[in-house]
Amino acid sequence: MAKINEKDEQGLKYKKSQCSDWYTEVVQKTELADYAAIAGCIVFRPYSYAIWEKIREIFDKMIKETGHENAYFPLFIPERFLKKEADHFSGFIPEVAFIEKKEDDSERYALRPTSETIIYDSYAKWIRSWRDLPLLLNQWCNIVRWEVKATRPFLRTREFLWQEGHTVHISEEEAEKEVTSILSMYVDLIQNYLAIPVLTGKKTETEKFAGALRTYTLESLMPDGKALQMGTSHNLGQNFAIAFNINFVDKNMKEKYAWTTSWGISTRLIGALIMMHGDDKGLILPPKIAPIQAVIVPIYKSKNKKEILKAATKLKKKLGNFSVKIDDRDYCTPGWKFNEWEMKGVPLRIEIGPKDIKQQQAILVRRDTGEKEAVKLSIIKKIAIMKLEQIQNNLFKRAKKFLDSNIYEATNFKSFEDIIKKKKGMAKAKWCGESKCEEEIKDKTGATTRLIISGKKRVAGKCVHCSKKAKETVYFAKAY
Ligand SMILES: [Zn+2]
Repeated sequence: MAKINEKDEQGLKYKKSQCSDWYTEVVQKTELADYAAIAGCIVFRPYSYAIWEKIREIFDKMIKETGHENAYFPLFIPERFLKKEADHFSGFIPEVAFIEKKEDDSERYALRPTSETIIYDSYAKWIRSWRDLPLLLNQWCNIVRWEVKATRPFLRTREFLWQEGHTVHISEEEAEKEVTSILSMYVDLIQNYLAIPVLTGKKTETEKFAGALRTYTLESLMPDGKALQMGTSHNLGQNFAIAFNINFVDKNMKEKYAWTTSWGISTRLIGALIMMHGDDKGLILPPKIAPIQAVIVPIYKSKNKKEILKAATKLKKKLGNFSVKIDDRDYCTPGWKFNEWEMKGVPLRIEIGPKDIKQQQAILVRRDTGEKEAVKLSIIKKIAIMKLEQIQNNLFKRAKKFLDSNIYEATNFKSFEDIIKKKKGMAKAKWCGESKCEEEIKDKTGATTRLIISGKKRVAGKCVHCSKKAKETVYFAKAY
């Protein structure tokens, strides 16, 4: 069989700086996802699904340790449920898809754009007294939002995967505690596992979740200068409890409305991983989230194949319980394999050939820096673990440096426009707090408020746009 080694078939045509084309090419060539027959939908191929499984596993553990349980509610939501909370309905209706039913029925069913309403219909039945609270449930599921904007794999598709937590509490204070504790779990997941630095804070009235009292958000800045919302945590106040009649008898036998929260992260995080860490050669996956943490490429000819594969298998065993793959495909050259695993972003490559076996060593190559090192087999496990940690830390450090160096303070509207349009960064600016002013800023520059920086101090000075008295300090950016 002819070996695959034609250079032109391999590698990427686009550079990372050609962000949009590069992204599309990486997603397909690394076999993360493929376009589906339905416009705006993608197929999660095994490689991206494995990343999602990792994210799920990590976050699922976090929420279970804090008393949450998983459940599953129907995909179909009666239209009258969506209508019960007016803000919620008007916020979601443009992108809700309804199904046409076969039997004669006057009511339409929506495909869930989010599940507050169907879940609260059940909660209202289950909750009677303070003893039933808090109720802490989560579901892992798919979501349908019939996007009219241009779609992009992982970042904006008509169907995606997520988790949605839905909790009920006896007081505002308890609900607020839940919302902030979830926010810090998201920070832990995204910074310490996905190696993506985030900014956290509150959304403005315009940008908050439809029906929420307050929305907290995690935002990151992508290399093309656009902010990406990584997750949100909402204190829904009593809005939904009143609409759905979720009430309980408290310890003094008084009937009260409950307080609810909801929070979610989605497969959008995979899009963030791709954009944040990738380079001209392709993906770079942080070791803690990579489906394959190290790949062993045995270098052999037919005469020494058996001996070298044996050594590779022994080496894999020696490395123990992190996820290692041996690439023993006969129809590819080692060079081809190197390029392919580099493109797929495997953090560590281990080469082992006849010379290495003689010297009781293997060659370790870091994906993030390209650094090569011959390591004795006797200490290889320790060194490999150390290198994976270094890669994880380096990716975060690199991303943090990028974020920090692309946040600029805007003191007047001229500098604000400059930051958004020319520097392609995030603008930190004082703002009057008025939605109309926010809208005008968006119309003029394309930038939206990403979050309000929380602080105890009163904000002094003037709004960057309208010069009225400032109420908040806000991060502005163009966004995905
Ligand atoms: Zn203003």
